[in-house]
Amino acid sequence: MLTAYTARMAGVFDIDLESEDLSDAEEDVCHISVEETDPGQTEEVELTGAIVNRDSERVGPDCFELLTVLGKGGYGKVFQVRKVQGAQTGKIFAMKVLKKAKIICNAKDTAHTRAEREILETVRHPFIVDLLYAFQTGGKLYLILECLIGGELFMQLEKEGIFMEDTACFYLGEITLALGHLHSNGIIYRDLKPENIMLNHQGHIKLTDFGLCKESIHDGAVTHTFCGTIEYMAPEILMRSGHNRAVDWWSLGALMYDMMTGSPPFTAENRKKTIDKILKCKLSLPPYLTLDARDMVKKLLKKNTTQRLGSSKADCGDIQKHPFFRHINWDDLLNKQVEPPYKPCLQSDEDVSQFDSRFTRQTPVDSPDDSSLSHSADHAFAGFTYVAPSVLESLKEGFSFEPRTRPVRRLNSSPRTPISPLKFSLSEPFKASGDGEAELPIQAKPPPSENCATQPIRTPGRTKKKGHRSGR
Ligand code: ATP
Ligand code: MG
Repeated sequence: MLTAYTARMAGVFDIDLESEDLSDAEEDVCHISVEETDPGQTEEVELTGAIVNRDSERVGPDCFELLTVLGKGGYGKVFQVRKVQGAQTGKIFAMKVLKKAKIICNAKDTAHTRAEREILETVRHPFIVDLLYAFQTGGKLYLILECLIGGELFMQLEKEGIFMEDTACFYLGEITLALGHLHSNGIIYRDLKPENIMLNHQGHIKLTDFGLCKESIHDGAVTHTFCGTIEYMAPEILMRSGHNRAVDWWSLGALMYDMMTGSPPFTAENRKKTIDKILKCKLSLPPYLTLDARDMVKKLLKKNTTQRLGSSKADCGDIQKHPFFRHINWDDLLNKQVEPPYKPCLQSDEDVSQFDSRFTRQTPVDSPDDSSLSHSADHAFAGFTYVAPSVLESLKEGFSFEPRTRPVRRLNSSPRTPISPLKFSLSEPFKASGDGEAELPIQAKPPPSENCATQPIRTPGRTKKKGHRSGR
């Protein structure tokens, strides 16, 4: 709803728009505060939606032409799209479409969806996917993201079977910087696994899929939410004893192990047995890992969080200092000055050869939006709509209340709402086996134990078991 606003207008002033969305008439209340810098000269003016929005863009599904299906999520599809109207016409994006009706069934999922949108709005980092727009229709939510046509890191890992240590070092380094950045913003990623790590056209890392992140967790705070994917999940999440940002460093360790051996450290034929192994089993390390690699894996996969590498206040700083990364120049890495180990072989910015043909050969159809939610249900998605500041930059010429000496801040972006912790119950509680460390001698592969079979070392050509890997 856009109603008329009255604001005092000074000769020189600074407008702070904290709006759910001024560009979407379906959206709700807008709050505008005008901060005077010259209280002497004021006059009353009426601010209407039409005035405020005259140069901003109304973005909706019609602005995008569907090109290809890139993937499927729990609540809808991800398409490759081309923008056909307004700013950035002709540019290729990824469009993640989520069905409200599916999300609304579960309060936890509503919170996750809002968190994804809000986190993507807040976080800008070279190794984290960029959100350009978010909008909604009666029954659906849309996220317009930069299109990562290098595909999933998983695909690359599939092709190679395992990565050489210097390759793993590059990817783990970029991921460490991304996680460190999230942590410094009070965000725990919680869902680190190869499918959520994508590559851009140059082969650099981009973390995607922020549906399971936990916001607003700063030092000392512990959450009790349980979500994520079993194979890469830290024991303290499974034990429901509360967790903090150290869970991401455990997942980094599990990912490192996966990259260098061909499978995550603890796997079994079903979810329950996998959880059991994560809680109780000793880590077995293959003999071919270098001393630095095995030392870092062991330190990241400490079941006792206080002993885990990265758990101190220094967070990623401790990990960056580990000898495994001694050849990394962190400034160069952050500035994308280090050449990626694999450059995706692409013919154009629409090339989808790096994606699973099970998706790309489908006819791209965004099913008709015939559903409409009750007003109260729809309220859960208030404030979803968003236009990135970078897009607004290109639009704001002409939008001015002259004279203006300071930039307009937060135009058309919504206030961030903290997500309250939500509980998730396991059907069966699991017990810890105590906190004993569980590492094996360096020299040899361990003898297989009853509870804890050693992982076969995969050679190139492992099978993609998406269901098993993404068991949520
Ligand atoms: P959710 O929990 O929201 O259902 P999901 O894991 O199913 O999450 P995503 O990981 O966000 O959904 O997306 C599903 C797939 O779509 C990804 O695995 C990837 O192949 C593709 N994809 C997602 N985002 C992008 C993007 N920005 N560019 C290119 N492809 C993408
Ligand atoms: Mg995903």
